[in-house]
Amino acid sequence: MPVPLSRVFRSKYYYEENMKANILLVDDRKENLLALEKILKRPDLEIKKACSGNEALSLVLDFDFALILLDVQMPDMDGFETAELMRGDEKTKHIPIIFVTAISKEPRYIFRGYESGAVDYLFKPLDPVILQSKINVFVDLYTQRRLLLDTMQKLSATIDELKISQKIIEEKNTLLKEASMRDELTGLYNRRYMSEILENEFSRSSRYQTDLSCILFDIDFFKNINDTFGHAFGDVVLRGISTCLQQNIRKSDISFRYGGEEFLIILFNTGIEGARTLAEKIRISCESTIHNDGINSTTITISAGVASVKHHHPSDSTELTVFADKALYRAKAEGRNRVRVFGENPSG
Ligand code: GH3
Ligand code: MG
Ligand code: MG
Repeated sequence: MPVPLSRVFRSKYYYEENMKANILLVDDRKENLLALEKILKRPDLEIKKACSGNEALSLVLDFDFALILLDVQMPDMDGFETAELMRGDEKTKHIPIIFVTAISKEPRYIFRGYESGAVDYLFKPLDPVILQSKINVFVDLYTQRRLLLDTMQKLSATIDELKISQKIIEEKNTLLKEASMRDELTGLYNRRYMSEILENEFSRSSRYQTDLSCILFDIDFFKNINDTFGHAFGDVVLRGISTCLQQNIRKSDISFRYGGEEFLIILFNTGIEGARTLAEKIRISCESTIHNDGINSTTITISAGVASVKHHHPSDSTELTVFADKALYRAKAEGRNRVRVFGENPSG
């Protein structure tokens, strides 16, 4: 038993992608259209019919065709003119056209047909097997082109999604970087970020001969706060002190949480006297700050050590903090709640 033609020649992509290809049949004689349709009818094809060149021109604007079978002899506008008008339009110029004729078989007609952009020129009566196989080539080409376009669209959508994901990752990275520089409890910059900044600023101050100072603060008898009111209230006090520091410094200065109950302020373009004055101002401000969580209420004092680049000539940024720490140690030793500049004797 012979295998049905439609099964032999159907597009191999049809069942995979469920895409129907449009074929346009153009002939001024209805019986010819019906005969052609009968030969070509198969599930992967959507067959459209036009009885004139004008009707064909209007259909190609509305639908995407895999192929046009175009009669040569038609009243008003013949197949050649119709093909030329299609070739002249950007939207329709790539549609393959096969001329089908019973009369115009002379070479001059055939040449004219190819000149007007035809891919083939067939004579009636048509051999169904040959016609089916030719149709199949164009349907496959068309299907592949559509698959390619579809893949390109999907690729473009994937690229857009990737760009969005990349933006989200960049934003998250920025947030993560910011979080990695901050101390969670007080919101101040942390010690890791301080080392980075201080090192850079130390090099800059050496290069441009500008001054750079730092103040190291430590809360006095802070352990007693935890022991008396509990750790949670200790945290309230730490936040209160960090607020007090921030309220007293300039926008250009930066405050850091240096350790548990220790804070450091970097002062740019500021000499030792400016740093001492600021440390004293902060000490007084903190002393008068009342820390209150609605249950407990207390005041607390801080001690400070001060050092600066031009006054103390540290060899690097770490030594600058070591000098400030030594001055702080002395402030503690001399009774707390006071500011000491590195290298100054106790009476000074
Ligand atoms: P000094 O005047 O000599 O500085 O005495 P001090 O009690 O302040 O110093 P000490 O080093 O003995 O105690 C510091 C305390 O700070 C001990 C530690 O539990 C507490 N501390 C450190 N970090 C935190 C924190 O994040 N929250 C709270 N509540 N306490 C902290
Ligand atoms: Mg302390
Ligand atoms: Mg301490």
